[in-house]
Amino acid sequence: MSSRPPLRPLDDAMADLLARARPLAGAEEVATYEADARVLAEDLVSPLQVPPQDNSSMDGYAVRSAEIADEGVVLPVSQRIAAGQAGTPLQPGTVARIFTGAPVPQGADAIVMQEDVEAAGDDVRILRVPDAGQWIRRSGEDVQRGAVILQRGHRLGPASCGLAAGIGRDRVRVAPRPKVALFSTGDELVMPGTVPPEQMQPGAIYNSNRFFLRQLLVRCGCEVSDLGIVPDQREATVAALRSAASAHDLILTSGGVSVGEEDHIKPAVQQLGSLDLWQIAMKPGKPFAYGTVGDAHFIGLPGNPVSSFVTFLLLVRPFLLQLQGASQLQPVAIRLPAHFDWKRPDKRREFLRVRRDAGGGLELFQNQSSGVLTSTVWADGLVDVPAGQTIARGDLVRFLPLAELLA
Ligand code: AMP
Ligand code: MG
Repeated sequence: MSSRPPLRPLDDAMADLLARARPLAGAEEVATYEADARVLAEDLVSPLQVPPQDNSSMDGYAVRSAEIADEGVVLPVSQRIAAGQAGTPLQPGTVARIFTGAPVPQGADAIVMQEDVEAAGDDVRILRVPDAGQWIRRSGEDVQRGAVILQRGHRLGPASCGLAAGIGRDRVRVAPRPKVALFSTGDELVMPGTVPPEQMQPGAIYNSNRFFLRQLLVRCGCEVSDLGIVPDQREATVAALRSAASAHDLILTSGGVSVGEEDHIKPAVQQLGSLDLWQIAMKPGKPFAYGTVGDAHFIGLPGNPVSSFVTFLLLVRPFLLQLQGASQLQPVAIRLPAHFDWKRPDKRREFLRVRRDAGGGLELFQNQSSGVLTSTVWADGLVDVPAGQTIARGDLVRFLPLAELLA
């Protein structure tokens, strides 16, 4: 029996991987409208106050609160201010008709909502004594002029693109998209659409990894060149790697990183560059390879679909985010009670496919095999089980939400 290298702890492999992910040089300017999932390459500083002026948060009447000491005061309406209009200073002894979003006229210090007012001829009767400041949204209560609203390294999303637009930014500087060449290895693989199910040869399976890996890459902000399936041959693998290396920041493969004779990734990458095969102490997903081909990074994921999926989320995703200079690489883990027992401790740290139930706890998918992709669809998160540990119903466990890992 050949001696096997010791398994590497996941955190160790992660630190090693991140140490190699130097942020890509350069930045580009994109439309804020199109900037979802991009990483800011500049601090966004606000040139103005948001809201720009004090404005009304109600349809009603702008008043001087000191003039309304008691219920039933009757005052004339001296002007009408709709959203988008400037208004004029409020004449003493009068009120201004005002609408939501309209600037509060100078001199007024409160808004009386229209439900608290009744008509008294051409004047209005105020039915409730206002507190100074009520129903006024203050200038700058959202954003102060000169404030950094979003920092370099922030990964933009719908809310932050809205905030950037709110300070007038139609364009933002962002990190370049990592260019990733993706291919699958394995002679058993068939592309869906090329062979109908009833004509599949014995041993053949459809290539599922290609589909989720491409979409995961896109969600991580990458530009993907899908190079399809590379046959289990040394020359074909070398040729595919060589042609991908020049124009890409990362070559990502799935399959072929175990140590069987049909695993051609290792010798091919070694021929063109360097490769470290890492046996990571995690389940699913033990085999994992990092190397370089020319100037490109190389990452080889395991072929088993769940292993491929989970190692992508836990290792490749932070790697790609760091290439873009993102400040937050990891999801926020939360502690939730297990609504299941897990009695089989493993030597490796394990990531169980689980789902939250209506009782605020976690249910376990029955089949945790690394080939069962159904588990990843059923699940809404992973439970991080330390090596050698069991779980009893009611234990608080570390839950990693898939919603964050897939964002
Ligand atoms: P490998 O890592 O190449 O030894 O593959 C491990 C297992 O994953 C084998 O059962 C393969 O058939 C399966 N597998 C590899 N690549 C894919 C893929 N792209 N889609 C679905 N299953 C795959
Ligand atoms: Mg294979």
